[in-house]
Amino acid sequence: MRKPIIAGNWKMFKTNKEAAAFAEEVKGQAAVEGVESVICAPYTALATLVEAVKGTGIQVGAQNIHWEDNGAFTGEISGEMLKELGVTYVIIGHSERRQYFGETDETVNKRTKAAFKHGLTPIVCVGEKLEEREAGRTKDVCREQTVKALEGLSAEQVAQAVIAYEPVWAIGTGKSSTAEDANEVISYIRELVKEQAGAEAAAAVRIQYGGSVKPNNIKEYMAKEDIDGALVGGASLEPASYLQLVEGA
Ligand code: 13P
Repeated sequence: MRKPIIAGNWKMFKTNKEAAAFAEEVKGQAAVEGVESVICAPYTALATLVEAVKGTGIQVGAQNIHWEDNGAFTGEISGEMLKELGVTYVIIGHSERRQYFGETDETVNKRTKAAFKHGLTPIVCVGEKLEEREAGRTKDVCREQTVKALEGLSAEQVAQAVIAYEPVWAIGTGKSSTAEDANEVISYIRELVKEQAGAEAAAAVRIQYGGSVKPNNIKEYMAKEDIDGALVGGASLEPASYLQLVEGA
């Protein structure tokens, strides 16, 4: 049985103090039996958040990781640094990083390997752009991104990974994918994992949907067989709405 996972992606929102205030508000309410709940915060809030959410059932994730342990890489943060803070998850290859910061399938693969090296769970993002969807290339794009991201990982590592299917046209637009369409693509991604890492890994890997997930539509996604949770942007920023998402899962 795969444990559902709700992960908030705060993107470039919330200062350190705002993150602490959020944790204060959700205290005592965020632990829901059978659901894993994660908040992926900006680097500057991670140390504070790890302390502030202790005992709340929430785990803390970063939004990126460099593949080297240390070195002359100005502006970068390594897995070693994240692990020491008590961070347990890391988002890799979000479409905003692919679009604005030159992230490629190759760097996504390197970062994914680095996450495992440091005992962090990667949340690997894949998904098609609007023009790719309109050209009927959704599955091709997901195949390319998924296969390359997981290249060289052991079946055990793949089984522990989280994949987030986030169609780019659904992110921050209020135009979510239907649960049916999302489930179809996610089933396809699970098939790809099966080809690449075997049936056991495919049955174990958790695959989330992301893109305009809100408290009022979370249940539709969770009702689908292959959807194991959600990666949520905007609706994860307010304590009340975050709590509703975790409860909805
Ligand atoms: P929204 O939930 O704001 O559409 O963002 C989705 C996303 O990009 C999560 O990583």
